[in-house]
Amino acid sequence: MIAEVIIEISHQNIDKVFHYIVPKNLESKVKIGLRVKVPFGKGNKKIRGYIVGFSNNSSIEYEKLKSINNIEDLYPVFDEHMLELAKWMKDYYGARMIDCLKCMMPPFMKITSEKYISINRQIPLEKLKNIIKEYKNKKKYKAQARILSFLMDNNEIPLSEIKKILQISNSSIKSLINKNLIQIKEVDLDKDPYSHIDFKKTKPLIPTHEQKNVIEYIINKLNNAKGEEILLHGITGSGKTEIYLQIIDEVIKLGGQAIVLVPEISLTPQTVERFKNRFGEKVAFTHSKLSYGERFVQWKKAKEGKISVMIGPRSAVFTPFPSLKLIILDEEHETTYKSEISPKYHAKEVAKKRCDMVGGLCLRSSATPSLDSYYEAKQGQISLLTINNRVNNSALPKVDIIDMRKELEAGNRSIFSIKLKEEIQKNLDKKEQVILFLNRRGFSNFVSCRKCGYVLKCKNCNISYTYHAYNNSLQCHYCGDKATVPSVCPQCGSSHIKYFGVGTEKVEEKVKEEFPEARVLRMDLDTAKGKYGHEKILNKFKSMEADILIGTQMIAKGHDFPNVTLVGILAADLTLHIQDFRSAEKTFQLLTQVSGRAGRGNLPGRVLIQTYTPDHYSIQTAKNHDYLSFYNKEINLRQRLNYPPFTHIFSILITGENEKNVISSTYGLMEIMKFFNKKKKFELYGPAPAIISKIKNRYRWRILIKCKDRDLLMQYSFYCINKFNQINQTKGKLDINIQTDIDPLIMV
Ligand code: ADP
Ligand code: ZN
Ligand code: ZN
Repeated sequence: MIAEVIIEISHQNIDKVFHYIVPKNLESKVKIGLRVKVPFGKGNKKIRGYIVGFSNNSSIEYEKLKSINNIEDLYPVFDEHMLELAKWMKDYYGARMIDCLKCMMPPFMKITSEKYISINRQIPLEKLKNIIKEYKNKKKYKAQARILSFLMDNNEIPLSEIKKILQISNSSIKSLINKNLIQIKEVDLDKDPYSHIDFKKTKPLIPTHEQKNVIEYIINKLNNAKGEEILLHGITGSGKTEIYLQIIDEVIKLGGQAIVLVPEISLTPQTVERFKNRFGEKVAFTHSKLSYGERFVQWKKAKEGKISVMIGPRSAVFTPFPSLKLIILDEEHETTYKSEISPKYHAKEVAKKRCDMVGGLCLRSSATPSLDSYYEAKQGQISLLTINNRVNNSALPKVDIIDMRKELEAGNRSIFSIKLKEEIQKNLDKKEQVILFLNRRGFSNFVSCRKCGYVLKCKNCNISYTYHAYNNSLQCHYCGDKATVPSVCPQCGSSHIKYFGVGTEKVEEKVKEEFPEARVLRMDLDTAKGKYGHEKILNKFKSMEADILIGTQMIAKGHDFPNVTLVGILAADLTLHIQDFRSAEKTFQLLTQVSGRAGRGNLPGRVLIQTYTPDHYSIQTAKNHDYLSFYNKEINLRQRLNYPPFTHIFSILITGENEKNVISSTYGLMEIMKFFNKKKKFELYGPAPAIISKIKNRYRWRILIKCKDRDLLMQYSFYCINKFNQINQTKGKLDINIQTDIDPLIMV
């Protein structure tokens, strides 16, 4: 008996099946999905592998075949169904098999209980702080000081986890326990982690007319689904979550299971409560804050069908339910549904494949669907359901646009318009809360005219130039075109043309200057550090410990703040001019989402959008809460410029520490690509530096390829990359890394 084994090393040369003899004593035990130890390579080093199949013969002579050393567990980490999914992913995304298999596996640990430690909260805070201060200065106690200050910022944490994070020894922990500064307890992982909370069982609400139509349509499909997909377009507050609850109820009645994917950021205590109240112990949640042990136990419960609903971010799409009937993607337009590491899968594509395999139903849902999904619906490839009204018919907030060019004319150079200042003051007087939103994501270094709003764009690509401060130059990150920064605006001649970029810190500083009496909270990657940092800030704001919350898109969703009646969007243009053809779409989605934060309670909400491009369609349509007009305008533009969904894009990123090697390799690969593109079936762009042209001392260069036919595009691109690799293997090592991505959502 010969076993087909995938080795646990991710490398292009090892990305294939290896044959091993199954020793007689293991023949009855081997199964697909089992982990085994095998001798590998010249030194016969013992390495972990995964059994993916069996065969009777091998192209290698029998005498030369090696044998499996031993089986690691009795429990397979994937079954044939998941193996098939992994094989599909390997081909569909051009990834290595081991990386695809890893998506299917639980973090494998055979434990059913875990030790948790926490700080002894009985000790007064001041005293703890003093102890930490004291310990920090003593060499012998430094590790203990680190543990204490970490635990101050976190609730309970598994012992194994804190040891990994802080790189500390058992002895430090032990002496802290002996001093009664920290506590340790054993937690039974098989128990529902929410069992200590008393959830009130809720009954389905009586659906509105619009909800009822949607629910009936979906339930009807559920009964004989064959991998169908539905797009639900319902405005914010139209009762989409209630719809999920009612159709999941039906799935459970049919004896099936459902997966609900949500962006991690909206997995708030409120969300947990809504699902727990309805489904009790049948529902489980997975997220990055869980320990390996907890995640494993959930994975196992799902596999055994002991739970019926799994709610979690992107990776929950791999939940190994035995009779999966429904996968919901909430906020389906979110870019976090696409993995940024290999395999660079999109959860909606994996969801579709899973539903195809088992005859399930996929529901994508959003108040602002992605252009891609809405186009599919318009083309009739998937069904479209729409809800146009809020549940209680409450009004959407009133949105006003403020033309910042006029502010400048009037001599106001502050980041706040006169109107916004007035409105903030009104709220402070009335003791109502304010959210200030800085529409900044990643690298929005573009150059614009503050007088007329003109933005410097590449002629070839219709994409904003990126500003490079180090040499004061402009560059297009699609085609590589370069330009100098003009001293006056090419459109109006003003000299107020400059690099754009304000951070949240700057905003906080200015708010404190303008409104010294206001209590201000700031949320960004710096302040929301730690496992629960994000939630802590939002909870503080919710419990009225601050008047103004400043943040980036991190505050765009999740919590409801009933006392927020004013949302100020400081610079709506910031996402509009990032070097990305999806910038208008992302701007529209963000503006719509953020506007939805105002007036969720009984008080009516108002939104002020500050912008230098008030006439831009993404801003105008967001003001009117008008998705359809936005869609129509944008889809025409995409078609004219041949961008997705009218074509597919394949991205090749070459990185390395030696800049010359990276650049010459990228040009070398481009030569090959040109050579095999004589019929001009593919549009080639580049070589160009990536948007972030250097990360951690590695230079980054990019080639983009466009083609309508996805399969052809994949074949051609990998063919060229393989040719390139073959040539360079004979030339010696270049020490570069090649990453690929089909249909990227974000380019960095
Ligand atoms: P969405 O997910 O579309 O933003 P939700 O499902 O969160 O909307 O619903 C918004 C609010 O309306 C929630 O407080 C929810 O409990 C309530 N709601 C939803 N459906 C109904 C209904 N049929 N009757 C009464 N209240 C409802
Ligand atoms: Zn260009
Ligand atoms: Zn100008």
